[in-house]
Amino acid sequence: MTDADLLARHKAVLPSWLALYYDEPIEIVHAQDRRVIDSTGRTYLDFFAGILTNSMGYDVSAISDAVRKQLDTGILHTSTLYLIRSQVELAERIAKLSGIPDAKVFFTNSGTEANDTALMLATQYRRSNQVLAMRNSYHGRSFATVGITGNRGWSASSLSPVKVSYVHGGYRYRSPFRELSDTEYIDACVADLVDVLETGTSGDVACMIAEPIQGVGGFSSPPDGLFKAMKEVLDQYGILFISDEVQTGWGRTGEHYWGIQAHDVVPDAMTFAKGLGNGLAIGGLVARGDLVDCLTANSISTFGGNPVAMAGAAAVLDHIADHDLQANALARGNELLDGLRAAGNPLIGDVRGKGLMIGVELVEPGGMTPNQGAAARMMEETKARGLLIGKGGLHGNVLRIAPPMTLTAEEAAEGLGIIVDALAAIS
Ligand code: PMP
Repeated sequence: MTDADLLARHKAVLPSWLALYYDEPIEIVHAQDRRVIDSTGRTYLDFFAGILTNSMGYDVSAISDAVRKQLDTGILHTSTLYLIRSQVELAERIAKLSGIPDAKVFFTNSGTEANDTALMLATQYRRSNQVLAMRNSYHGRSFATVGITGNRGWSASSLSPVKVSYVHGGYRYRSPFRELSDTEYIDACVADLVDVLETGTSGDVACMIAEPIQGVGGFSSPPDGLFKAMKEVLDQYGILFISDEVQTGWGRTGEHYWGIQAHDVVPDAMTFAKGLGNGLAIGGLVARGDLVDCLTANSISTFGGNPVAMAGAAAVLDHIADHDLQANALARGNELLDGLRAAGNPLIGDVRGKGLMIGVELVEPGGMTPNQGAAARMMEETKARGLLIGKGGLHGNVLRIAPPMTLTAEEAAEGLGIIVDALAAIS
């Protein structure tokens, strides 16, 4: 079986909208540390970690051992109708880490399900189906979360019953407030929020949801303090604030454990997924206890909170703490940011991000026109040189760099060298 055969079968039986990277998509069959091997035996340094999922890297014995220990009990899962010790323990840990007072946790299987839960809770709590989201956002693929996703490339259906209004703040580079200073930008976004609330809603909005750094939207990070200023407005209206930490959680941004902490504000709820499981399907929500408890009917996720995912996630949290991976994300991230900024390539319009969540927006030299062609060529060039990176942004012209948080300084230099060389090659 060659990859071409597999690709043909994939296309025949899987949806046309299930996107694949690369002219010749790869099948990864083996992985170790920060390197993956495809079915032809080629090795790649992984600077995308399965969209920030394999945050600890591959074949991490402490995580595999914890999962294996659970498998050895003979139980992959029974039901969340019974007590699961590891679920209680992980919930206690995440509640404490969240900084949200009197927090409770609900586990799901994905980020989508986590955000969908957050929307259900917030709309029930406030008895309103009006929601604010950021322009260019991505929050998942369920009927409700796709309805609040601002990035049109991922907003597959406009028929969702959630009533959404979009506000500025998530994507600065191409916003009308681009030329403003940080303080002026924050003021402009707050004024926009007030304007949207006053002229575009009936005021009794349930919640505002935001990614502290937009992920799918192109790793765009607003100035620190934006969300504190926005929450002050939300508080005046009694509107809940949900931080979507699916990409920014668990120390990846380096400076903080949660992306929202850069804004010196405590949200009413945070959603999480991806990196917590290091490849295992897990997601969840941590929120004010009164908000979580506002549902009066039963609501259960069959697999959310299963002991295999709980064992893996607890081992991931240990691994982050034991190896100070938040500090590593900051150090390696700064090396990459510095190197990319120093590259001085005319295709680079913007280098941004925090820690190991770095976006490089490619433009037509001398201007700001999005350069999708250059991004597509960069994907192929980096692959040919043995590096996996991601692509995203509203126009598909942003390179997304998000290696495992265990990245070494040598690997950072190696990946940076490949990116800089590839940029030079396509210029
Ligand atoms: N929120 C954000 C910020 C995301 O990046 C994603 C996934 N890319 C999701 C939610 C949805 O998560 P999942 O794909 O696990 O459903």
